[in-house]
Formats: sequence, C-alpha cells, structure tokens
Amino acid sequence: MHAAKCGLIQRFLTIVIAMSEASLPSATEALPAYRVERSAVHGNGVFAQRDIAPGERVVEYAGREITWEEAQIRAEIQGGPHNHTFFFSLANGNVIDGGDHGNEARYINHSCEPNCEAMEEEDGRIFIYALHDIRADEELSYSYPLIYEGRHTPAIKRAFACRCGAANCSGTMLAPKPRKRKPKPAPAPMAEFVPVAAVVQTPQPAAAG
Ligand SMILES: [Zn+2]
Repeated sequence: MHAAKCGLIQRFLTIVIAMSEASLPSATEALPAYRVERSAVHGNGVFAQRDIAPGERVVEYAGREITWEEAQIRAEIQGGPHNHTFFFSLANGNVIDGGDHGNEARYINHSCEPNCEAMEEEDGRIFIYALHDIRADEELSYSYPLIYEGRHTPAIKRAFACRCGAANCSGTMLAPKPRKRKPKPAPAPMAEFVPVAAVVQTPQPAAAG
C-alpha cells in the first residue's frame, strides 16, 4: 500500500519535472526551427517546429558541390530526371547535390506561393530564409523553377506537376523553356546569388513516376 503510494508520487514528480523542463525558455530556444514529416503536397515535407521570424535563416541546403558534368553522370546513374533528383545551380556553374551529404533541407517542397526562399551566400553555400512570418506546424516551401533542357514530354510534365494548392498555382514545377531563337549553351540561366534548382538532362527518356 505504502509502496504503491510512493510510486504514484514518483510518477507525479516525473510529470511535474517534465512539464517544467518543457516550459523553460532555454528549452524553447534549443528547439530546432523545423522537422521532417509526411507532406500532403509531395512525399516528405519540412514543417516549422516553432514560429519563425521573417528573414530568419532556417537551414542550409547542404550537399556536396560537384561540377555540372558530374551532376549529369549522377542523374544518368539514377535513371534520368525524376522528382527526387534536385541539384541547385551555383553562380560558379557548379551544383549542390542535396542527395550527397545533404540534410533535411532537400525535403522542402516547392510552392507557387512560398514562405521561404533560397539564397546563395558569397562563399557558395545555399541557405533557406523565411520570407515572412511562419507559424509553428506550417509547411516550409520555396519556389524553385526547375530548369529542364530536354523535351517537356507528357511524362516529364506529369513527373514535375505542382500540387502546392496555392491559388496562383501554375500546375508545374518546370520553368518555361527558353525561346529556341536564343540558344543558350549555359546549363541554367542564373540570377546572381539566387540558386536555381535544375533537373539534369540525360540521354534516355525519363521513366514516368
Ligand atoms: Zn503550385
């Protein structure tokens, strides 16, 4: 009887301690800004773990920096362009492969009405910044016009359809193809310090996902 009472008190104390730890400001500050879980938009998504302020640097888009040629080889090995192969074009012509030594940032979904943006720093690293106030549990997103130089076949269009649900959704994650009259040998038209996600073109047609 007495032992059972002690057990109850102990359990009660444990709950009290757990509650006070949760309410400590230091614990809140230590909370990461994001978490990964299944998304209604596409596969895994990244969600705000707490409120995020406008302009806050949320996470680095980590990954190994490789050459454009290497990216093409890697895409070919993976079986051509599909919606899990994302490379970020850097200002120096190289790309960041989020699938190689990357982190949770590669799970951030595209949205036509994003709450984050990707910016390339002067040292060639890419960081995701909050565009405006983000509430806890909101899904993080940024707009990445995917550059795909191959033919925009129905299979390709299906694989890169956008289902972000925004009122202004364009229905596709693919950037419009540049006019044929102005051939550009460069892999991707790159605005300064704004990285562009790119689907690497491979010789064989893509398997429809
Ligand atoms: Zn959309």
